[in-house]
Amino acid sequence: MAWTLLIRNGTVVDGTGAPAYTADVAVAGDAIAAVGPGLGGEAARAIDARGLLVAPGFIDIHSHSDLFYLGCPAAESKLRQGVTTEVVGMCSFSPAPVHPARKALTAAWIGEIGSRVAVEWRTFGQYLERLRQAKPSINIAHFVGHGALRLAALGPEDRSPSADEQRVMERLLAEALDAGAFGFSTGLVYPPSAYAQTPELIALAKSMAPRGGLYFSHIRGEAETLEAAIDEAIGIGEDAGVSVQIAHIKASGREHWSKMDAALRKVSDARARGVDVHADVYPYTAGSTKMANLLPPWVPDGGNARLLERIADGTMRRRIIEECALGGEGWRSVNGSLGWGDIMVATCSKPELEGLRLSELSERMRKPAAEAMLDLLVESEGQVAMVVFSQAEENVVKALAHPHVMIGSDSIGLSAGPAPHPGKPHPRMYGTFPRVLGHYTREQRLLSWETAINKMTGMPAAKLRLKNRGLLRTGYAADLALFDPKTVKDEATYADPHRHPTGIVYIIVNGQVVVDGGAMKPLAAGRVLAP
Ligand SMILES: [Zn+2]
Repeated sequence: MAWTLLIRNGTVVDGTGAPAYTADVAVAGDAIAAVGPGLGGEAARAIDARGLLVAPGFIDIHSHSDLFYLGCPAAESKLRQGVTTEVVGMCSFSPAPVHPARKALTAAWIGEIGSRVAVEWRTFGQYLERLRQAKPSINIAHFVGHGALRLAALGPEDRSPSADEQRVMERLLAEALDAGAFGFSTGLVYPPSAYAQTPELIALAKSMAPRGGLYFSHIRGEAETLEAAIDEAIGIGEDAGVSVQIAHIKASGREHWSKMDAALRKVSDARARGVDVHADVYPYTAGSTKMANLLPPWVPDGGNARLLERIADGTMRRRIIEECALGGEGWRSVNGSLGWGDIMVATCSKPELEGLRLSELSERMRKPAAEAMLDLLVESEGQVAMVVFSQAEENVVKALAHPHVMIGSDSIGLSAGPAPHPGKPHPRMYGTFPRVLGHYTREQRLLSWETAINKMTGMPAAKLRLKNRGLLRTGYAADLALFDPKTVKDEATYADPHRHPTGIVYIIVNGQVVVDGGAMKPLAAGRVLAP
């Protein structure tokens, strides 16, 4: 038998959580052809994996790379962590469907994730075709965003859909599932998804239940309303009979940190009564989102242009500050109470301000922090990304250790271009998976290698009901990550985020070696996966 690739003497961690064992792994074309000790036969290429762990390629169950593939299909920051499949279309955002009369509106809305791409499609299928043409180096499992469904069916308004509009959303959802979506996602703090009442979501979920569509949710609040928001997500799964994923589970804001135990218990309790619910987590105490999300929900109502008008208007601005200011010390937001030192500018229109905390920005601009923040939003036309330090380390640890929580980076796959990377994005873009392996598994011993890898491979693959990915088994797709358990480590920091990890040696996507001895080969090895 002639293999295309023979990986010799590695320690196989197969993704199921079962104990590691020493074996060879043979690849023929795009599939794993054999796994076992002392495999013979000729191979076009052999890799000596002595001292390395050989795992299935990691599945990032919660990612936001969507529109960035069109500009940087290599998704290098993601791939070099060992990620071979990304789940996108998260938190209500997806680039399709698009109502032909609302193209500009949709372009502006998806532009809020930081991407600038000409919207050349209308249906979800047309968009997926465009994505295939971009030839990404990574496999993609796509969800359709509830925000996109809503924008296409009824625009950006803060109201419930009419019966007709609800039917339009259900039809667009069905079309997306036909085209290859795995389900739909909500972002119930992000307009227009946030404007939905629960019955709208139950009806949408019910409409896809017979087809096995999945419901992934950025829930309706991760601070004050954390417990009710988890109840809502689980309730939607229970009422509609669909599988639920709670995205980036967290208790945000110091005064809410004690709610984490109850939040995780709700997941366990729901599972005990038969609801198929899981959650995901990223291994950091900071989150990252648009700075405009710190404003009360009435401010962005109607879109970015309205938001800018409101924060430029003196009376409205005073009202915003009165609602949110915590005596000059900080800000009350959907993320809970934040000190000005807890909020860092990640990207904005003025690169010299990136990396500053709002407390520092306030000093630099010689004005109160709230005014500095609102002025920065106006100057950057609302497009400011932030890193926000709102979580407790002990809660991150609890989530990572929970048996039904998997790893999701909540980030974008960035690629090095001719120009330096812009901004100071959250280090999770480069470090999520190696941080779980290096810091939490090798150093903290929070997880065994087998459990950590299961949370990155077999568990998310089962959630997505992928038939032939996520495990290292004969007949499965040859998506593999080979790393050194003694050295694997995230290198990206908040101050210096654009750094690839160490210790990730070989990454194989559909049988092609895309990271080879630590070096990236930009091959179009990825596929758009179908459910
Ligand atoms: Zn989210």
